[in-house]
Amino acid sequence: MQFSDLGLAAELLRAVEEQGYTQPTPIQEQAIPPILLGQDVMAGAQTGTGKTAAFTLPLLQRLKGYANTSVSPARHPVRALVLAPTRELAAQVWESICEYGKHIPLRSACVYGGVAIEPQMKDLRAGVEILVATPGRLLDLVHQRCANLSTVQILVLDEADRMLDMGFMPDIKRILALLPAQRQNLMLSATFPDDIRKLGDQVLQAPVRIQIAPRNTVAELVTHSAYKVDPLRKRELLADLIRSRDMRQVLVFTSTKISANRLARQLERDGFNCSALHSDKTQQERTATLAAFKEGKLQVLVATDIAARGLDIEHLPHVINYELPPNSDDYIHRIGRTGRAGTQGEAISLVEPEEQDLLAGIERLLKKKIPIQQLPAEGSRPRESTRERRARPSPRHAPRPAQSVPAQSIPAQSVPAQSAPAETGQAVPALFSTARPGDAGATGAPERRRKQVAALFLPPVAAKQD
Ligand code: AMP
Repeated sequence: MQFSDLGLAAELLRAVEEQGYTQPTPIQEQAIPPILLGQDVMAGAQTGTGKTAAFTLPLLQRLKGYANTSVSPARHPVRALVLAPTRELAAQVWESICEYGKHIPLRSACVYGGVAIEPQMKDLRAGVEILVATPGRLLDLVHQRCANLSTVQILVLDEADRMLDMGFMPDIKRILALLPAQRQNLMLSATFPDDIRKLGDQVLQAPVRIQIAPRNTVAELVTHSAYKVDPLRKRELLADLIRSRDMRQVLVFTSTKISANRLARQLERDGFNCSALHSDKTQQERTATLAAFKEGKLQVLVATDIAARGLDIEHLPHVINYELPPNSDDYIHRIGRTGRAGTQGEAISLVEPEEQDLLAGIERLLKKKIPIQQLPAEGSRPRESTRERRARPSPRHAPRPAQSVPAQSIPAQSVPAQSAPAETGQAVPALFSTARPGDAGATGAPERRRKQVAALFLPPVAAKQD
């Protein structure tokens, strides 16, 4: 199927072509036609499937007739409201709306907390047809009388399960009460626990149901492995894995903000170009950190589960669970950051004795055993002496790559090469001898990535030929 078979307007087909997309993904094939017809849709799709375009393209088309260049705010009432759980996801959705809608003069804005409210008030007072928002900030703006939601014709709840997990249900109920009863509703969720089904029953009218990946499936291109490790050796093992495997872009998960901060500090002292990402960081810090990581300027990002969903990081080859998530579902979301859009990825978990039960829970959810890797023998790697460490340039002062090439994110001289197990003469654990999933995809340009996504969605024979 081609995009042109979906009934999309010429302006949107042009924007899609400019993005380099050659074929619609399955969620786009299934969701775009009913949304264009004005039907409610409940879609089970994870990020990485092309779900954002699946709802933003038809949404733009449905509002196209209202596009106008009048300066009067009255001519730009809020017609579509997209609710997203996190600031990062809201910003990402808005970016897509701007990209796909660049040939249609509809106004849009994105509002979220953690930044000054005044510029957002100004944007909304000027009038926008499409508003992307996190629930809390949206309600603040409603209370300030800057957002009138009584004109909304299309409501999108993106990553609905995450919104409920984050405790947004009361805010969502308040927002629903401000919307007109007559409207089109679209709900997207990676998982469908009971509370999501209940919310769907309340919000959606005879929805078209679309399920792209069965509940709790994980990207097939992700390889899983685990190390059973003493808590006191965890950090050493982590540093060792990053160095010996030459991981150039790795997302490390901790379960608390405190341990994310502590680990990021320690890794920085160990010579890694590293930052922490969690909800105590200011919005500017979060945006800058994420941008640096996406561009390959930051080698290690230590994050809490705030980063686990929705974020689209090109070709992320490695995710490491430094601490396992208390909720097994979050494992799926964490590792969903890798193995995306047709590229391979790997998920490594460092499991201390107290986390054995969590690992068992994850295995039950995955319906498979995660292979346990052999630990590199203690003391097998020559340790860097204090003098050597001091002689190494600080990562803060180390030269940064001129462009976004992940392979150069850490200056070679700041990584002691001798830590590679192969050079120690010790038994090489199986994990170290396998092909590195990131190698193939780490240098691809966006076009190449798009081709890979397209190839992923082609029938198997065609995909092989690509
Ligand atoms: P999403 O699931 O919306 O987060 O999208 C994941 C990635 O797939 C984004 O980087 C999109 O730019 C990309 N994408 C969306 N639709 C297509 C398509 N039809 N062909 C190729 N890439 C796509």
